[in-house]
Amino acid sequence: MLIDSFGRTIDYIRISVTKNCNFRCKYCMPNTPDEIEENLIPLDKMLEFLKIAMDYGVKKIRITGGEPLLRKDLSLFIKGIYDYKNNIEVALTTNGYLLKKYAKNLKDSGLKRINVSLDSLKKEKIELISKKDALNNVLEGLKEAKQSGLKIKLNMVPLKGINDNEIISMLDFAINEGFLLRYIEYMENNFASNAIKGLRSFEILENIQKKYKYTMLKKEMFGPAKLYKINNTNNVFGIIAPHNDEFCLSCNRIRITAEGVICPCLYFQDAVDVGEAIRNTDKKAMEEALLLAIKNKPEKNKWQEGEISSRAFYHTGG
Ligand code: SAM
Ligand code: SF4
Repeated sequence: MLIDSFGRTIDYIRISVTKNCNFRCKYCMPNTPDEIEENLIPLDKMLEFLKIAMDYGVKKIRITGGEPLLRKDLSLFIKGIYDYKNNIEVALTTNGYLLKKYAKNLKDSGLKRINVSLDSLKKEKIELISKKDALNNVLEGLKEAKQSGLKIKLNMVPLKGINDNEIISMLDFAINEGFLLRYIEYMENNFASNAIKGLRSFEILENIQKKYKYTMLKKEMFGPAKLYKINNTNNVFGIIAPHNDEFCLSCNRIRITAEGVICPCLYFQDAVDVGEAIRNTDKKAMEEALLLAIKNKPEKNKWQEGEISSRAFYHTGG
């Protein structure tokens, strides 16, 4: 079992498989060209690291990026994870642009759940946020994923003056489609556009109250979201609020980048580079690096204090 210096059990790894992306979301990435990823670790090598983590009790692996569907051998990688441990929980976070093409492959690899980031149902707003005319592709991707039998959650980052007038229409869309919508508070970082201002959870709830009465349920299992049930229905939505004090208390995760850098916290720069050990399949060095990263995990982030992170979320996987 992996237990950090503050007594938290770490049983969840988020793996970023590329820092490149086919979108340029205002809140995540600067509008600069993709980089050549010289130190990208082959996924079969990365699997050997994950096997060590699974042996240490990791129960959940989320594949993210950049845009993970840009890695063509992804379905094979997912199958490799399930072949090693068939009761592992694997999930994928994607912007959905390539989902129509890959949904069935992903389902066939054993994947059961995906999170699709969707910030608006308006074509021009999606283009404004992501710099891509992408709405149609994402909606078709969602349709294909649903037909393939994948369970779907939607992630929306509400931004002041941009998509905050869609908080309710996004919820209605998710409810109609049978998806769980989770609103994510914008996390301030050095790579986002300066003009961006996010909504805090109380502001998101104020918007929802205009149409629905709701009751808070519990924190999501294995997740940072607080769940709310719309009264007199079975419909649920979630809010991920890293600006809240209690957010870090139950943190159960570490992250690894596509170059093999283990990041114990999304906020801090502190990291352990395990890339060379992974490339050489040096199991002892991989194990030592994993244990060091767990030992180094900080107690809490600094968004509560209104600070800005110098971590790039497209690098660590958000
Ligand atoms: N490209 C994929 C996608 O967008 O789903 C996966 C990577 S993205 C970094 C993972 C998640 O982080 C997305 O749901 C995205 O909305 C969220 N995210 C990125 N930057 C963020 C920020 N500054 N604040 C809050 N959420 C952010
Ligand atoms: Fe790409 Fe996802 Fe970041 Fe948007 S949020 S730029 S889709 S990595």
